[in-house]
Amino acid sequence: MSVLSSPYFHDEAKAFEHLESIVWADGVVCPHCGVVGSRVYDLSDVRGKPTLKSPEGAVRYGLKKCGECRKQFTVKVGTVFEHARMPLHKMLQAVHLIASSKKGISAHQLGRILEVQYKTAWFLAHRIREAMRSGDLATPFGSGGGAVEVDETYFGIKEGRRGAKAGTAHKFGVLALVDRETGTMRSFTFDKFRADEVHPIVLNNIAREARLMTDEAKMYKKVGREFAEHGTTLHGARQYVDYSDRTIHTNTVEGAFSIFKRGMKGVYQHCGEQHLHRYLAEFEFRYNTRTANGIDDRGRAVAAVRGIVGKRLTYARPHVDA
Ligand SMILES: [Zn+2]
Repeated sequence: MSVLSSPYFHDEAKAFEHLESIVWADGVVCPHCGVVGSRVYDLSDVRGKPTLKSPEGAVRYGLKKCGECRKQFTVKVGTVFEHARMPLHKMLQAVHLIASSKKGISAHQLGRILEVQYKTAWFLAHRIREAMRSGDLATPFGSGGGAVEVDETYFGIKEGRRGAKAGTAHKFGVLALVDRETGTMRSFTFDKFRADEVHPIVLNNIAREARLMTDEAKMYKKVGREFAEHGTTLHGARQYVDYSDRTIHTNTVEGAFSIFKRGMKGVYQHCGEQHLHRYLAEFEFRYNTRTANGIDDRGRAVAAVRGIVGKRLTYARPHVDA
């Protein structure tokens, strides 16, 4: 026995039951008319049209019918899995693999494990990243007066800027915020490290009663006055913690960045700019549901599956990369 022995990783009917137990934890909802529960019927033994591959027609797992609007649906309707053409039990394997690999997993490797083509694996991974994207931006960090660390980092090379070496203009910029009380992070991409890009992120996501923690960069000076306290460390002078007050530091956010950077370097070597926010969402998700926050691999996979609802992923012009 292992984690991967669970029947829903191998049996399509069980996979649907598993997904239903997560998505419909509070009762079945018809995705067409929104009616909850009572008048939904199971349509078992319904088969699709006969094809060469399955002359008797493929079994349509998880099929339901709404007694109210008379329409049919499965639990996949209206989720990022809706139009994915792969058995659900394989997609659940992929969720588990991505949720439990600290530095992520490349589309090539995912394709080899699931025995699907690279492109298929690539699209599936992006569906799962979309599920991992946080929808909860309601509560500002540092609510209640806790410490919030903010830091920026640069990595990769933007398209068409391969020759550039010095400075940061040719790299991707990422700003991360860590709420030290809850141990969670939020990350944002920026084009230029300028007040009009950085200040709104800081002001919109951090409560004014928070203790803001940054390095000595001039960027944070003015915006820092908006908060109850602004602690800075002098990284230029190799001072990583304030010796008179050891709670003044940005070591937590730098730790989070180092996991992200190692993953992006080792696994996702070529990340297109248009997909960066999804890779960030993946790392952010794993960070926020990490073991230190009391969540194990299985719980993390369930949390990811919960996120498939209400997010549809469509690519007008597929651009396959990383
Ligand atoms: Zn309905």
